Amino acid sequence: MIVGVPKETFPGERRVALTPAVLPSLAKRGIQVVVESEAGTAAGYPDSAYGEKGAQIETSRAELFALATVIVQVRALGANPDAGRAANDLLRDGQSIIGLCDPLSAPEAFREPVRRGVTVFSLELLPRITRAQSMDVLSSMSTVAGYKAVLLAAAELPRMFPLLMTAAGTVFPARVFVVGAGVAGLTAIATARRLGAVVEAYDVRAAVKEQVESLGAKFVELPLPSESAETAGGYAKALDEEFYRRQRETMSRVVSGSDVVITTAQVPGKKAPLLITGEMVAGMAPGSVIVDLASEQGGNCELTRPGETVFSHGVTVLGPVNLPATVPFHASQMYAKNVAAFLLHLTREGKLVLDLKDEITRETLVASGGEVVHPRVRAALGLSTDAGI
Ligand code: NAD
Repeated sequence: MIVGVPKETFPGERRVALTPAVLPSLAKRGIQVVVESEAGTAAGYPDSAYGEKGAQIETSRAELFALATVIVQVRALGANPDAGRAANDLLRDGQSIIGLCDPLSAPEAFREPVRRGVTVFSLELLPRITRAQSMDVLSSMSTVAGYKAVLLAAAELPRMFPLLMTAAGTVFPARVFVVGAGVAGLTAIATARRLGAVVEAYDVRAAVKEQVESLGAKFVELPLPSESAETAGGYAKALDEEFYRRQRETMSRVVSGSDVVITTAQVPGKKAPLLITGEMVAGMAPGSVIVDLASEQGGNCELTRPGETVFSHGVTVLGPVNLPATVPFHASQMYAKNVAAFLLHLTREGKLVLDLKDEITRETLVASGGEVVHPRVRAALGLSTDAGI
């Protein structure tokens, strides 16, 4: 089995799907790796480092696609719909793609690869079960995003984060409010605490209170019904507009008293809930900063513009996109470890095996045998949901 690692083509993408460190674990299971020249350079992994771990370096992208039975990428198909289209002509029957493919938001990008008989695994669809934790790229990338969000806020804020008692007087610590304490939110809390800020956090899932407190932050209690806000699987449910209206109302006081608000609230498969209105932004002190990590899912703040910085009433609203790509060394290290674990999970005796009885394989498999087989993606494409697996 030959795994190909092409250079990423999404604009601004600096990550790479496999790093040199994971190659020996793949080689042990009979997996050879071919890396496109300079694929890892922007992340801090030169060709020579891959060569030292036994990878073949290929200067021709076309040749890499011709050689590889499995292509691993960070952003493929729907996650790179424009620049990624150029790779379609290089794909062939029997080849597999593994990566973040955004099949639910951009399923159209799957049509041509599927027509060509390509098997596609989309890592966003990985079930969040204990057995799949080592492959969970969403958690890894959220960890990076939560960390970087705090650094962006700190760099933008006209204040310092820590309490300082100096001969020139006392500097009071920054007050940071984190909305949504999932993977990104918890990393943001920990990072803001390390910088010395006073941190508060809120999540609709009451279960996270203890985790928030264990990081040295205060859990904000809002008079909202939390028991109905969680699915049996431990995720946030989409709630009705009346709930969000009451949440905005009750959160308003905490928002106006914060120097930094970091929003990470999301509901899987849905548009992000609107939690901070323009009016609430206007109620914040001039110089305050909002970092909206949900910007790509529609944003938690009404004023967010994805990929842009908005100034309103003296408040700076950042809507960063693709944040993990801005910390490419460690984001790639984590992504590569996850992808290698996923590859090894699929491999038996040096071959990729589709064991559809296995939940991890079944849930991530979007296309095989010239058909979209994932029911949710079939539905997104307007195809009948009886066919497929
Ligand atoms: P996510 O990105 O979907 O959402 C981020 C957070 O926003 C969540 O904590 C959610 O509860 C919160 N949220 C949603 N609506 C909100 C609202 N109106 N107000 C405030 N907060 C709101 O979530 P995630 O970070 O990917 O994961 C969340 C859950 O999944 C956690 O329980 C986590 O422990 C679990 N998880 C499990 C595994 C595993 O077992 N393998 C792996 C990763 C995550």
